[in-house]
Amino acid sequence: MTKSAQRIVSGALTAEEARLEASVRPKRLSDFVGQSRVKELLSITIEAAKSRGEALDHVLLYGPPGLGKTTLAQILANEMGVSIKTSSGPLLERKGDLTAVLTALETGEMFFLDEIHRLFPEIEEILYPAMEDFQIDLVIGQGPGARIHPYRLNRFTLIGATTRAGLLTAPLRSRFGLVHRLDFYTPEELLRIVLRSAKILEIGIDEAGAREIARRSRGTPRVANRLLRRVRDFAQVRAKGHISLEVARESLGLLGVDEQGLDEVDRSLLRALIDKYSGGPVGLGTLAATLSEEEDAIEEICEPYLMQLGMLDRTPRGRVATALAYKHFGLEPGSRQPNLF
Ligand code: ADP
Repeated sequence: MTKSAQRIVSGALTAEEARLEASVRPKRLSDFVGQSRVKELLSITIEAAKSRGEALDHVLLYGPPGLGKTTLAQILANEMGVSIKTSSGPLLERKGDLTAVLTALETGEMFFLDEIHRLFPEIEEILYPAMEDFQIDLVIGQGPGARIHPYRLNRFTLIGATTRAGLLTAPLRSRFGLVHRLDFYTPEELLRIVLRSAKILEIGIDEAGAREIARRSRGTPRVANRLLRRVRDFAQVRAKGHISLEVARESLGLLGVDEQGLDEVDRSLLRALIDKYSGGPVGLGTLAATLSEEEDAIEEICEPYLMQLGMLDRTPRGRVATALAYKHFGLEPGSRQPNLF
């Protein structure tokens, strides 16, 4: 397993984590913290669709992992008062897997398709007429006697989610009526999320402790909730279960999450750039090989946050550590740091 898979920021969930995530997941738009513009636009769309008695237009949600795409999809279904079926690009291996889901969708029902950028091309093609005309071609029989039979689908809503909007093909992207990007959350918004989750999970926490967790959660609600649970464990063993500022600081330090929310993998990435490649530019493949990480994990998890902080730049020639990255380690910008890596 790479270090990424075990990270506090990783998208992979254990069964226990999935259960806990479900318990703190907001169910209505009014409980969904932050993303005010997206929320407002969605609430207008919902009201308009409801008043016309129509299904919602297809929605594409994109942004880094853990920002609330799945949560929003479920909220959209709740607000529209319809049920939602869920799948993910890599899970749909054969054409039949997708047609089975599509033909079973009822009128108005939603279909949440996570990691939509990872659909196989021949499966993605089925989606085009399904989204546009609510029709698919079913192949009846096999071999030379096979016949193509057009099949009418019920009017459903597809909610696509992706961490990599840039990898979506133009024909697929153009079939979404609504496209919304989710941004990293502000520390204030994350504070509200931490306090809300602490209340639901009955965790005793000071506002200062919650603020510390929020500040180091790399702008991501999933990370905030995870850090909260880890800090709670620490508090239970060391501090009679209560999370104060000191308890939060000490346990986050122990977890290797620094003042800016960087973890060990982020720091190794920046240090590799600085120490081994004089700050870059370095190609993604080389960087991934140096760190023994997968390119996808670097692009999806590390880079968006490091770029948001202004510590990393992506140039046509490769990745570059900025002056802020040097500063983060107390180094002079541009200085070479041989033998440290
Ligand atoms: P994504 O699908 O983008 O990877 P999720 O929707 O699974 O992210 O969100 C991860 C967790 O973060 C959810 O369990 C939810 O509890 C929490 N979360 C996400 N967005 C919000 C929000 N805006 N307000 C409160 N909690 C949120």
